[in-house]
Amino acid sequence: MHHYVEKMMLVPEYLPQFQCIGPDCEDHCCKGWYVSVDKKSYLALKESSNPVVAPLVAHGISRNRGPQAGERQYAKAKQDEETGCCIMFSTDKLCHIQKELGEGYLPHTCSIYPRYTRQLFGIYQQSLTFSCPEAARKGLMLTEPMQFVEAKIRVREELIEKTVTKHAEDAALANDIRFFCINLLQHRTIPLWQRIAVLGYFCEQADQLRQQNQHANIPQLIESLIDSLGTEEWPQLFAAIQANISDKVNAALSLLLLQQLRSSAEYYRKVLGLVLTSLGVEEDKFDIAKSTARYQAALELGARDFLIQHEFILENLLVNDAFTNGFPFASGKSWFDGWLWLFAFYEMVVCSWVGLFASFGQKMDTDTAVTATQSLVKSFQHAPDAYKKMIVDVFKQKGFSTLANNLPLLKPE
Ligand code: SF4
Repeated sequence: MHHYVEKMMLVPEYLPQFQCIGPDCEDHCCKGWYVSVDKKSYLALKESSNPVVAPLVAHGISRNRGPQAGERQYAKAKQDEETGCCIMFSTDKLCHIQKELGEGYLPHTCSIYPRYTRQLFGIYQQSLTFSCPEAARKGLMLTEPMQFVEAKIRVREELIEKTVTKHAEDAALANDIRFFCINLLQHRTIPLWQRIAVLGYFCEQADQLRQQNQHANIPQLIESLIDSLGTEEWPQLFAAIQANISDKVNAALSLLLLQQLRSSAEYYRKVLGLVLTSLGVEEDKFDIAKSTARYQAALELGARDFLIQHEFILENLLVNDAFTNGFPFASGKSWFDGWLWLFAFYEMVVCSWVGLFASFGQKMDTDTAVTATQSLVKSFQHAPDAYKKMIVDVFKQKGFSTLANNLPLLKPE
């Protein structure tokens, strides 16, 4: 029913090894979300007389009538009240549409997940979201910096999102900027928090150049930053910063609590419940002195070493996000706002790991860190753009609107 094409694409090295594990999946993508059904799939499903699918469609898929109902969100599939899974999810943990009618009848959402396919400034690319547990295991566990390779990809052509440059940056420059940001996040001669800081500096400076219509000077900024990475300039700056653990814990817990209130994912709530309890949050309230003391005690207990040993997971998370979303271009007008979101998400993951360490002690292991990260991605990265903007606005309102103000939070201790 839907038309497929094959294209050579740039993909992260983990992608060709990924395969959906279907019935064995511990956090199935059919659970916890309303599945959007595009118009073409909806009309084809309505036409079907398949004895299994037709009755489910009749009472389980309904038209969206709200202002956001377009071609892609034309209808939605209900969740089963008992299981919280999509109405099409069978007891043998397979999809009735796929089983009875074939892959071509799957709504776009189900056909593409967990893949993101884009054409960014002339480059076709595909990557996976780490909200899928199997994708998270494949991508987050790479111990060497993530590489990008070419692969032949089969995809519904209409699902390839296209992005072109709006401003004076041409496609080649846009791609230079994107891959500079990715390479910077993978620059392992300095700790990850310092790479994030340098990335924030780049975004702040580049925004100023863009505001002054000096886009042509961005390559010089990149060159000077690359040169400065090998000097004493950054280590001296970072050594002079006074870490503010109390603000760090306060910001991360506040953001985690914000999402807890709106997340429907039971799996995420379990992970987060452990994090919040172990960091002294009771009934969605916390005493910052007590939570900071617990955070620091967990660092002493071994969370500090755990974070250092598992820094590659955090790096892979940020690199995958930057590649998938075309950082820094995806964040609209302000590249620094895009950085603020990346930074806020990083802080939430770090805080979650430390909270879990406070709960599990030395039993905290790599699998637990990957699981916590996956559940955070599922809860946060699929949130609407308006929600991400709200988080960035909360950060700014609390006074963290410049890199200088954020550095004491970013510094681990
Ligand atoms: S979350 Fe990933 S592994 Fe699990 S069922 Fe969905 S695509 Fe498959």
